[in-house]
Amino acid sequence: MRTRETSAVSTEVVVVGAGYAGLTAAWRLADAGVDVVVLEAADRVGGRVFSQLSPSGVRIDHGGQWIGPSQRRFHALATHFGCSTFPTWEAGRHVEIRHDGARVHYAGAAPDTGPGIAEYERITALLDHLARTVDLERPWATQRFAEFDTRSAEDFFRAQTHDEDALRRLALAVQSVWCAEPREISFFHVLFYLASGGGYEQLMETRGCAQDARFSDGADAVARALAESLGGRIRLKDPVLSIRQTAYGVEASTGRGVVRARRAVVAVPPATVERITFDPVLPPERRGWVRHSPMGRVAKVHAVYEEPFWRAAGRSGIATLYGESPVGVVFDNSPQDASHGVLVAFVYGDRLDHWAASTDTERRRDVLAALSEVAGDRAQEPIDYVEKIWPRTGWTIGGYECFVTPGGWTDYGRNGWRKPSGRIHWAGTETASVWNGYIDGAISSGERVAGEVISALETVGQPG
Ligand SMILES: Cc1cc2nc3c(=O)[nH]c(=O)nc-3n(C[C@H](O)[C@H](O)[C@H](O)COP(=O)(O)OP(=O)(O)OC[C@H]3O[C@@H](n4cnc5c(N)ncnc54)[C@H](O)[C@@H]3O)c2cc1C
Repeated sequence: MRTRETSAVSTEVVVVGAGYAGLTAAWRLADAGVDVVVLEAADRVGGRVFSQLSPSGVRIDHGGQWIGPSQRRFHALATHFGCSTFPTWEAGRHVEIRHDGARVHYAGAAPDTGPGIAEYERITALLDHLARTVDLERPWATQRFAEFDTRSAEDFFRAQTHDEDALRRLALAVQSVWCAEPREISFFHVLFYLASGGGYEQLMETRGCAQDARFSDGADAVARALAESLGGRIRLKDPVLSIRQTAYGVEASTGRGVVRARRAVVAVPPATVERITFDPVLPPERRGWVRHSPMGRVAKVHAVYEEPFWRAAGRSGIATLYGESPVGVVFDNSPQDASHGVLVAFVYGDRLDHWAASTDTERRRDVLAALSEVAGDRAQEPIDYVEKIWPRTGWTIGGYECFVTPGGWTDYGRNGWRKPSGRIHWAGTETASVWNGYIDGAISSGERVAGEVISALETVGQPG
């Protein structure tokens, strides 16, 4: 019988996951002279940031793609590695397609009149007001923490208004930021997240906000540069199956063998932590936190055209859709040189569940019908049509990030969010205080955890 060849390797720190968090942590540790090995399940680095050429050769970002001006850590790394950005395409008239089929064209951030808009604006101002009370480093110390955390966003919104149009707007906002439904998400988590990103407008808008710019060579360009500087320290296609803690260190086991180290950094989303077996089992608070942190459900669908034909008609290609269509939001994702036209359609939450369950032909038909509403009939005939359904992605199982369900912060936040479990240190965007859920948050989590590990390694003679 043939047995698979396995090996044992020793290092100071083993990092699990080569997304932006794991790569940054490893890079910082290596820079500080710490010996590090990175184990990555996939056949590439970048995790939830994944750039690829479409069949006709246009670079598209299946996952994270935008960078905003206040995402300073991401900007600093991009500058360090010489990765350039360009402004998100947005000139022209945007369109809102209402649930009754009415089409409203507008310019700027959002339509300022229409059904539900006054109530929506009142409630989003209240969200910003409440978000200003959040303690980002010690969320559990926030005033009214338990009161807000034990209810869902839906519950809060319905207590505020009976205006169904306003509720539709709020629901699409939740879907487009967390890829979840308002009934699923802790209201405190909504406030925490708004505070973490700098407020509602920062999260929702384009110019000067989170959707401000894209990367000329794809948003994983910085991840690829980080990986290159880490050289042979990264092992791809090597998922960690178990982590054992001993009195002296940790042992991370993969199909290829064991990596022994003094400390482990686990930089995978909480929802995928459950795929790793821990010995001894993780503390109950960490397990509870993981159970209360499901992944959002999102698909990004790119349609590539010979040219951005909608611009000649004064259209921007940006749209919000409230009706029956599976698509919630559309952006013009054309490359920097506009050599082709690219529209990207986002499908979220419940709409994603229904759409993903239909046949290939039905999915394509429904997305192209939505794009035609937004950009005109020519949208029916793309030269490339590329779907990325994140819940079907092996080692990530969703996106953009894990959100916290009602009660999760109250019951498990204090000891389960990012507190080390013995010799295991937690990183990943979900552990960030600033730009939680974003690439910038992943990077800051990598920086934080590297500091945490370096201090632990320096603490001579302290067990655990
Ligand atoms: C569709 C989509 C759109 C988004 N848009 C934006 C955006 O425009 N701007 C923005 O800032 N953010 C965006 N995000 C969020 C952003 O991509 C993430 O916040 C960020 O990439 C998370 O990085 P991370 O390192 O924390 O985790 P990940 O990128 O998930 O990295 C974790 C890594 O661990 C690996 N892994 C998992 N389990 C194991 C195991 N057992 N053993 C070894 N390896 C394992 C995974 O393969 C992965 O590579 C988007 C995400 C998605 C999915």
